[in-house]
Amino acid sequence: MNCKVIAKGVIALLSKRFAGPFWFRRRQLAKTQWWSQQELDKLQLKLLKRLITHSYNTVPYYRKLMDQHHIKSEGIKRLEDIKQFPILTKNDVLLAGDSIVSTMYPRWLLAKAFTGGTTGTPLMLHRNIFSIGNEHAFVRRQWDWAGIGLSDKCAFLTGRLIVPPDKQDGQLFAYDPFMKELILSTYHLSQKTAQDYALLMKQYKVKAIVGYPSAVYFLARTCLDSGIEVKLKSALTSSEVLTESMRQTIEKAFGCKVFDFYGGAERVCYIHTCEHGCYHIIPEYGLTELVPIDDTIGDKCKIISTGFWNLAMPLIRYDIGDVVVMSNNNCTCGRAFQVIKSVIGREADTIKTPSGRKFGPAILTHVLYGTAHIAESQIIQDKLDHITVEYVPSEKFSTKDLKDFEGLIAQHLPSELSVEFKQVKAVQRTSSGKIRPVVSLMGKV
Ligand SMILES: [Zn+2]
Repeated sequence: MNCKVIAKGVIALLSKRFAGPFWFRRRQLAKTQWWSQQELDKLQLKLLKRLITHSYNTVPYYRKLMDQHHIKSEGIKRLEDIKQFPILTKNDVLLAGDSIVSTMYPRWLLAKAFTGGTTGTPLMLHRNIFSIGNEHAFVRRQWDWAGIGLSDKCAFLTGRLIVPPDKQDGQLFAYDPFMKELILSTYHLSQKTAQDYALLMKQYKVKAIVGYPSAVYFLARTCLDSGIEVKLKSALTSSEVLTESMRQTIEKAFGCKVFDFYGGAERVCYIHTCEHGCYHIIPEYGLTELVPIDDTIGDKCKIISTGFWNLAMPLIRYDIGDVVVMSNNNCTCGRAFQVIKSVIGREADTIKTPSGRKFGPAILTHVLYGTAHIAESQIIQDKLDHITVEYVPSEKFSTKDLKDFEGLIAQHLPSELSVEFKQVKAVQRTSSGKIRPVVSLMGKV
């Protein structure tokens, strides 16, 4: 398995650092972070015009939409002119199918990814492989803010699969010397493995931990309870809600600050914290509009965003389905980037196994939304050793899709959990109509 990790490390290093514009973008982002509001607005307008012209010329969906709405590329003169476009929902993207992918790139050259989103329907996304280096430059700028250099070793507790889920002991980690990443199996996280992982982090002299908040918190709690001292420069979390008490526990355990990040597979909006703990909307990444939600007191807004960099599948005025809490504060870090109070993430539970392993929401949704042609799905833990995966098939669903779905779950979850697949007409929703991707009927675990 380590050979695979090393091979992947070489590919990651090449695609993230050398095949795309990583170094150029990195230098540029180091400068633009200190630009004034006016300079940033000007940059955003330039990137927006480029995106819209490209979309009209090479994306059939946008040519038709712009013709229908009488939108002219040259009519985009101010950032507000984006409002000429209608809001793009996830359902619009699903219906648009291939017509929303640019004709400029051969399909084989595009990377594919899936996202779940609040409606629970997987959406296939196409990415230009050259956008990978670009994305990496944005990620690494936040890491720069967190004091992590390109040559610092980092430990990872994310959704990367490095050992089979039923492996009980032996090596539950892998080290990638190219990306300098110590990958710890989140799928095997328990009190026992958390202690082993903490000792490994000391042994490898890692400078930061990168991972899902639930997993990093669990590791931090274990370190505090077992008296293992791991000192880090920073902890970087993403993909799940980071509560204030989780933040405090992580900071106490590792003696460092937590840097939280919000992004999404659609790659239209980037929000993350700075050295001062403020959440900033990153303006060079996309044009983000915060639209107030009618039925609330006024500080909650929907995120409508236009990503500047994925020219293979442009998403203009895309409704991500997530909500932020507004703030009137400025940040003392000196950047002119807009500040928000927080991002309201999706609610989901954690699953516990008979042997004491824990699976947080991000890792489970990652598995849940990895298959095509499923309209809705949900994981329900009804017994300690049993989960039910409910799903609503879409029109194109076939027995092959079900096999793929079953295979994906089996590949990631241990056999101590028996899994039942159940086709339903609709999965259960919350009172606000959203789908909780993971529901535990076991009480707090
Ligand atoms: Zn700041």
